Amino acid sequence: MEWEDFFIGRLMTKREAIQTWKEYLTKTQWKIDGILKKMEQMPAIKVSEDKVICSRCHCEDRDQYASLTYRQEKIFFCCSCLQMGRITSRDILYYLPNTKYLVTDQYHSFLSWKGELSLQQKIAAQEAFDSLGDSLHPHLIHAVTGAGKTEMLFPIIDKILRGGGKIAIASPRVDVCIELFPRICEAFKNTKVILLHGKSQTQYKPCDILITTTHQLLRFIQAFDLLIVDEVDAFPYVDDHRLHFAVNRAVKNKGKLLFLTATPDKKIDIAVKKGLIHRTILPARYHGHPLVEPIFIWLGEWETHLIIRKKKTKLFNTLKNFIELKGKKLIFMANIKLAIALAEWLMKEFAQIPLTYVYAADPERQKKVEKLRRGEYEVLISTTILERGVTFENCQVYILGAEDPLFSKSALVQMSGRVGRKADFPSGKVIFGHHGITSEMKKAYQEIRSMNLLAKKRGLLSGEE
Ligand SMILES: [Zn+2]
Repeated sequence: MEWEDFFIGRLMTKREAIQTWKEYLTKTQWKIDGILKKMEQMPAIKVSEDKVICSRCHCEDRDQYASLTYRQEKIFFCCSCLQMGRITSRDILYYLPNTKYLVTDQYHSFLSWKGELSLQQKIAAQEAFDSLGDSLHPHLIHAVTGAGKTEMLFPIIDKILRGGGKIAIASPRVDVCIELFPRICEAFKNTKVILLHGKSQTQYKPCDILITTTHQLLRFIQAFDLLIVDEVDAFPYVDDHRLHFAVNRAVKNKGKLLFLTATPDKKIDIAVKKGLIHRTILPARYHGHPLVEPIFIWLGEWETHLIIRKKKTKLFNTLKNFIELKGKKLIFMANIKLAIALAEWLMKEFAQIPLTYVYAADPERQKKVEKLRRGEYEVLISTTILERGVTFENCQVYILGAEDPLFSKSALVQMSGRVGRKADFPSGKVIFGHHGITSEMKKAYQEIRSMNLLAKKRGLLSGEE
């Protein structure tokens, strides 16, 4: 390996560069001073009369900077990206852009996955494939929950690998990265795949495919021939301009940005309409059954009924019927206190049914989810945290208080999308229990419905009875 392989595409402080050299290159003829001289440089924090900008995270908010005066010099620290290591206005950032050109199909396929893509996956892969040459427009793959978007990426990733290119798959969510890592390793057995996120001890090493949180992309510059951003509408990516900046900088000038989502937000929709982003839609699930459409049930003053445990109500009746359905039952609620109150009530009324609740900061969260998966629990009452990335076989969903302002269209579509994911259990129930229909609820319904209609129109609903 050449020394460049350890530095290419990375944006690093002197400390980080020395660290990398110490770890991998002390026994080679390459000396750190010579390496630093060959790398490009920029001031870590650019300070002018009226502006302070961090070169790593591009933060321009003056409140995010701390300063101190040392020997009559004012030194700035960026607090916005402090967790990635301290940088000050006295530091220099070093980088080595990836200027390698892709060669056309130099090697044999790297793909060890032996499965077959569905018709719509093939079509979508081809469209994304055809877009690779257009580095000016990102390509968006809008795939419904359960469409099999990961597999669809395989031929595209393989194409870039065959050209000798580098790939990153980034997601705003650590759990998505962790879930993706073994699947990518399995599909590309003879390539180097690295998983990088703030919670892991793994250091960056030269690799072919990097799986990372979008946050870690702040450490890269013109690094990747293909950068795939999964869950592009998820927090924190969606509202954090630093992460948008990081994504755009991490991809090579001639590289390709590919966005994936099951629930594009308004901003993405507008960008698509303006032609800034090109889009491919996968409206059907891989098993060919339609998405389960939600049923709206008006519950009246359900919060009061819940608190006073009133049984002769629509709330109690619908919950009773729901709990008696087959399979695993997920009840989503926005408010944690009400979720606990409901759990306690239902435990009393249905003592024979194993039931629990889970919330974002619950230290037992993973354990409880695993227990539900194994069938030790039958009912799980949850705040929105399980909305993405969690797949259970044979499950039913009841969104209680679907009118809550915390439940956006995208959250509602994601929660509904837990039902019918597996080919063995392609249907089920999705209930929006509410006290007034919000526009987000309407939009969620319309989106699910329009995807089903599109899938039908394209002849993709082979599994429909
Ligand atoms: Zn910064």
